Amino acid sequence: KKTITRLPEWLKTPIPSNANENFKNIKKDLRGLGLHTVCEEARCPNISDCWGGSSKSAATATIMLMGDTCTRGCRFCSVATAKNPKPLDPHEPENTAEALKRWGLGYVVLTSVDRDDLADGGARHFAETIMKIKQKAPTMLVEALTGDYAGDLEMVKLVARSGLDVYAHNVETVEQLTPSVRDRRATFRQSLDVLRTAKETRPDLITKTSMMLGLGETEEQMWHALKELRKNDVDVVTFGQYMRPTKKHMAVEAYITPDQFELWRQRALDMGFLYCASGPLVRSSYKAGEAFIENVLK
Ligand code: SF4
Ligand code: SF4
Repeated sequence: KKTITRLPEWLKTPIPSNANENFKNIKKDLRGLGLHTVCEEARCPNISDCWGGSSKSAATATIMLMGDTCTRGCRFCSVATAKNPKPLDPHEPENTAEALKRWGLGYVVLTSVDRDDLADGGARHFAETIMKIKQKAPTMLVEALTGDYAGDLEMVKLVARSGLDVYAHNVETVEQLTPSVRDRRATFRQSLDVLRTAKETRPDLITKTSMMLGLGETEEQMWHALKELRKNDVDVVTFGQYMRPTKKHMAVEAYITPDQFELWRQRALDMGFLYCASGPLVRSSYKAGEAFIENVLK
């Protein structure tokens, strides 16, 4: 099979410029806080859009909890894998909340590696971090991007009740490609269960999922996935281009054009999704604060 190696024009983005004042200030603030953002560590090309935002109250950043080593090995993901990663840092919930309060940004996405080695998958640690943030910085909007807790829906309920505003869990791809894209312990159905359970637990929550395009999915499979998501009351969907982290990871099957991304955005809105971020460089947390403020708090 032919491998696509050349990047199309629309993916050749300049390194984020530091022109935006707000962005510069945030970067300076962050030095003293000891927080590890996915934005910086993954060298996300959206950093000036997200951190700069239209105002500090809309500025968004993504923080990784529970270490840098995952118990799973998805074929698209560059995070390190091990059976038994380091134990959790019991001070992380408190320290993270304190640092975020000092940073003072408007919207934080908390995410984590999957910890199948822990009896509760890390759900209590995750929920405690959210509770502490809400105690210290009650106006900060919190999105949790969690794993599937190996299908333990009680853990999903626990996180959903922790005081967060948005419950996100990514299906990543269409149902038919899930076995070849995600770790074998993940299934599309299990992910739908996670999203539906979060909504049932707290119907006022916004639920959100993200899909990578360019993995070889067909239009029909996309329609099927989106219908299933709507059937399970998922409010928000985002679409971005799959980019291969290294040669060891699965190949890109197609580069989706910006026009096709726009078409899928329109289709998602027509199907009743509350909002949809869609574009080649969009990641699930892309300008999440601005989108929430515009579409939910309006
Ligand atoms: Fe950070 Fe996500 Fe925005 Fe990238 S898209 S800068 S990871 S908040
Ligand atoms: Fe990466 Fe998440 Fe899969 Fe772990 S579960 S390998 S962090 S995508």
